[in-house]
Amino acid sequence: MAKKYDYIIVGSGLFGATFAHLANKDGKKCLVIDKRPQLGGNVYCEDVQGIHVHKYGAHIFHTNNKDIWDFVNLFVPFNRYTNCPVANYKGRLFNLPFNMNTFYQMWGVTTPEDARGIIEEQKAEAKASMQRDGAAEPRNLEEQALLLVGRDIYETLIKGYTEKQWGRPCSELPSFIIRRLPVRFVFDNNYFNDAYQGIPVGGYNKLTEGLLEGIECKTDTDFFNNREYWESLARKIVYTGAIDEFYGYCFGRLEWRTVRFDQETLDVPNYQGNAVVNYTDAETPYTRIIEHKHFETFGQEVYDNQHTVVSREYSTEWKPGMEPFYTVNNDRNNQLYLRYKALADKEENVIFGGRLAEYKYYDMAPVIERAMSVYKSQL
Ligand code: FAD
Ligand code: UDP
Repeated sequence: MAKKYDYIIVGSGLFGATFAHLANKDGKKCLVIDKRPQLGGNVYCEDVQGIHVHKYGAHIFHTNNKDIWDFVNLFVPFNRYTNCPVANYKGRLFNLPFNMNTFYQMWGVTTPEDARGIIEEQKAEAKASMQRDGAAEPRNLEEQALLLVGRDIYETLIKGYTEKQWGRPCSELPSFIIRRLPVRFVFDNNYFNDAYQGIPVGGYNKLTEGLLEGIECKTDTDFFNNREYWESLARKIVYTGAIDEFYGYCFGRLEWRTVRFDQETLDVPNYQGNAVVNYTDAETPYTRIIEHKHFETFGQEVYDNQHTVVSREYSTEWKPGMEPFYTVNNDRNNQLYLRYKALADKEENVIFGGRLAEYKYYDMAPVIERAMSVYKSQL
């Protein structure tokens, strides 16, 4: 018997919305359901006094893939926002990522040669200490950071922030976390190396609305409250929720890190002068303060809106019921995921995709790319 829908898409985040958009364009009948009261997944923005507040954490779009950049710009224009976070260490400010501005602020050096000289000296100390221990490769994040930038930067800008963010000592964290931080001997505060970056003008909801235009959507609808019904209506289910939940946690629960956002509206036009300020000392309990309006007013000198919204971010151990934000890719969780994936690979009528279903940290551009390639593989 013909089914009412070709695809029921569980989850309206960027994976689900992109998949639905492509299928709808090809004339497939789609229904998107989401358990949250609104669409868009983690890129959803709430309007607070005319400011688009990134409700599930600050989102900066960046990519090297021109096709993806052109694709998202079909739905909403993006501004020229350039992520330049500032670090506050006990009241002293430093530019990030680590570049000539940071080295000047740290040591007063004004040339790449002098900066390199200090960093090489500190790196040599770290290397010697590892050699004394008989270690050929960095065994943890602390050793990796010391080898990358030396002790001064590690202790001022990395140690406190990282230990707050991950809830454990740097000496017990894997080194790969820090390897992606750029170190530059030029005066360049741009956090990303990608060719394209920006924020949608008018907020991310415009992107979601554009992707989902003309598609039937239901919010406040949890797939698991009526699973058999949804399955009976569709030829295929596109599932973007958590993979362990799909299988009733039969092998146990995957673990996550989460973030608690302490949001405040202030009666000042400009609170901290930047969208992102990281607090890199150990004593400040939050990791960073986001001032949302700067994402969209970037480059403007005048602030018409006399209010501002800030969010302090507290990195928190995840417990069932909390928002699952960051995967914890240790051996236990990686093995557990593979057991669930083995079940998922056998499904004929369910497509699994996105950060929750693949138990993988995806940035926005890669998740859109992934949805496109998964959709193509269905043709
Ligand atoms: P999601 O956006 O999480 O969407 C999944 C949807 O499925 C949710 O809406 C959920 O409610 C729904 N769902 C789950 N289970 C069910 C169910 N049982 N029934 C119905 N609906 C269900 N990327 C960047 O490129 N730049 C950034 O600056 C950036 N910052 C980030 C900051 C944070 C704090 C986090 C956590 C992520 C950040 N990302 C960033 C990554 C970005 O959020 C992801 O790439 C994107 O959200 C992935 O989309 P998705 O569709 O896979 O998942
Ligand atoms: N990091 C740091 N100090 C900072 C910013 C980042 O030590 O001010 C470290 C931290 O360990 C973090 C890693 O660099 O986990 C990667 O940072 P990035 O901003 O790329 O990732 P995110 O914070 O989004 O996980």
